[in-house]
Amino acid sequence: MTSFQVATIIQAQPQYGGLKIDIKQYIRDVPDFPSPGILYKDITPLLGDADAFAYAIDLLAERYESNEIDAIVGIEARGFLFAAPLAVKLGAPMVPVRKKGKLPFHTHSVEYALEYGTDVVEMHIDAVTAGRRVLVIDDVIATAGTLAASLKLIEQAGGEIVGCAVVVELTDLAGRDALAGYDLHSLIQY
Ligand code: AMP
Repeated sequence: MTSFQVATIIQAQPQYGGLKIDIKQYIRDVPDFPSPGILYKDITPLLGDADAFAYAIDLLAERYESNEIDAIVGIEARGFLFAAPLAVKLGAPMVPVRKKGKLPFHTHSVEYALEYGTDVVEMHIDAVTAGRRVLVIDDVIATAGTLAASLKLIEQAGGEIVGCAVVVELTDLAGRDALAGYDLHSLIQY
């Protein structure tokens, strides 16, 4: 290893040094996005601060490091942003759940109801096999429609849900109630 590589690795370590970071300071409210009446919780300021982002990933890693996780499922699209670094940190494979038609190989799929119409989530047939212990990650839980459909998808493949974790929980929308029977963990709540 060259001295340049050593320096790069040292610089990549988080600088927060074990201090607590208020994650709410890194979530931006955007009113009326993507449509009137929606208060959008924008996680890009969190991604944009290396220490705060590392802190959020470390909080999730600490919670699940002793849970013998076999796979971390990230839900399209912003769930990927948290699932991928967490998977690396926990030494577990990362599995994407995507909307219909986005995955290139054979898929399992589950259709679920939206306010108007339906949508479909898909996962590769070889991504989660029977008995695998799975942690499911998304950025925000609102009504939990997407998360609940993803849990069904994983269970159809034979996976065992160890838990679901999100950065932001919007408690007014009662997503937690829709996931009764599953362990839901959120880093911050509104
Ligand atoms: P839901 O199925 O209602 O829990 O929400 C589906 C997805 O939409 C979530 O995984 C979030 O990524 C996104 N989402 C829903 N509501 C919001 C919101 N108010 N702010 C940011 N993202 C949201």
